[in-house]
Amino acid sequence: MLEYDIVIVGAGPAGSAAALKAASEGKKVLVIERGPEPGSKNVSGAMVRKDYVTSVFGEDMPFERNVETIKLSLYNKDKPVNIDFHPEGLVTTGRLKFDKWMSSVSEKAGAMVIPKTTALKLKWENGVAKSLITDRGEVSAKSFVLAEGVNSLVSMDSGIKGDWTPANSVQSVKMVYSIKKTDLNAMFGLPDDNTGMSWRMVMTDPLVAGFMYTYKDSLAVGIGSPIKELVERKIRPEKLLDDFLEMTGIAEKVNGYSLREYSAKIIPEGGFPDINVAKGNVYLCGDAIGLVDPLSFDGITPAIASGTLAGEAALNNYSSEIYKYNLMKNKEISKIAKERPLETDFMTGNKAGEYINMVSSVLEGWASGDLMGIRNTIVGSYRNIIPDMLSFVMRMR
Ligand SMILES: Cc1cc2nc3c(=O)[nH]c(=O)nc-3n(C[C@H](O)[C@H](O)[C@H](O)COP(=O)(O)OP(=O)(O)OC[C@H]3O[C@@H](n4cnc5c(N)ncnc54)[C@H](O)[C@@H]3O)c2cc1C
Repeated sequence: MLEYDIVIVGAGPAGSAAALKAASEGKKVLVIERGPEPGSKNVSGAMVRKDYVTSVFGEDMPFERNVETIKLSLYNKDKPVNIDFHPEGLVTTGRLKFDKWMSSVSEKAGAMVIPKTTALKLKWENGVAKSLITDRGEVSAKSFVLAEGVNSLVSMDSGIKGDWTPANSVQSVKMVYSIKKTDLNAMFGLPDDNTGMSWRMVMTDPLVAGFMYTYKDSLAVGIGSPIKELVERKIRPEKLLDDFLEMTGIAEKVNGYSLREYSAKIIPEGGFPDINVAKGNVYLCGDAIGLVDPLSFDGITPAIASGTLAGEAALNNYSSEIYKYNLMKNKEISKIAKERPLETDFMTGNKAGEYINMVSSVLEGWASGDLMGIRNTIVGSYRNIIPDMLSFVMRMR
């Protein structure tokens, strides 16, 4: 049987960060990826913070466009409140190129990456994992990192985490349209092929978080909605996406362009710090421990941060308590952990509608110079949500 210091399952952002960390310390590292190549299971793209990614993986990150504007639209019924932000350092990137690049950086540091191989289960002896069984044979290691994403079958089989349930998951549906660079630039008023814009939308009935990203010559648009609500109200996700495209006017823009990709994925709504993150010499990271924000879809930065810490834990054989402590200390990760109560609350009852109503009334008050209206909005109509907001503020400090 082949023997390694550390075996990592999954060559996504979390797995490649773990591999880079461990291989940079001179350990014998093997990464197992079930796709034909890293990123092939994530064919479209994402918006990421370039400076964070390059601080871990170095320069030369492949990206599509600099995101110079993020438009936020808060819909209550069909009337949106729109706010434009001008962020710094955000880019869109194609996952195939991006994941391949991160994996190649880990290979340059000495990790061995084997694609087209599926991890099936760990073999345990007295609470210590001894080897990993794959569809192409068995490998042994001193420690293991499970960076297998949201469908974490090996983690579940090992009893480290429970099965996902509709109560704690968001269903996402995403489409990518091929659109010529010049058409895309004209569609969104982009001055050149390197400048991009993103759009985030929140709708409240039912609760839907939507996004739109511009790549070089394509456009991604998608939604996420709590599965519990979809099931209870018998709403089909594809119908929700169609309604969303109509409501935002995107349907009209993409009319006549070819659909390059249509995919659906579950996004975990819960997770760290309320679940196990390790057992013996096995460490979980990234989406496998639910480190993704279901409202903003931001999951790559915490995946990289937790992957690096999982690599470090595997190197030093940390206890699960120390690993958990290190995760909690990390800014990128603790942000998601602390926001969980806020998200749960936001997704309960009609809270999202109440917040959006409040924001839109306050902004309308500003626009019309109605300071008394703003005061009345805050003090009068929304008495029921102010205590919640204060409690969030206290919890997030
Ligand atoms: C619709 C949508 C849009 C998103 N947009 C953004 C965005 O714009 N920005 C952002 O930051 N995040 C975004 N995210 C979240 C982001 O994609 C994830 O948080 C991130 O990819 C998590 O990284 P990971 O390495 O933990 O898991 P993954 O990227 O899922 O990688 C897991 C890897 O493990 C492999 N694998 C799984 N099981 C096995 C097995 N048994 N054997 C071998 N290999 C296995 C998979 O093939 C995969 O390559 C989005 C998510 C969705 C669903």
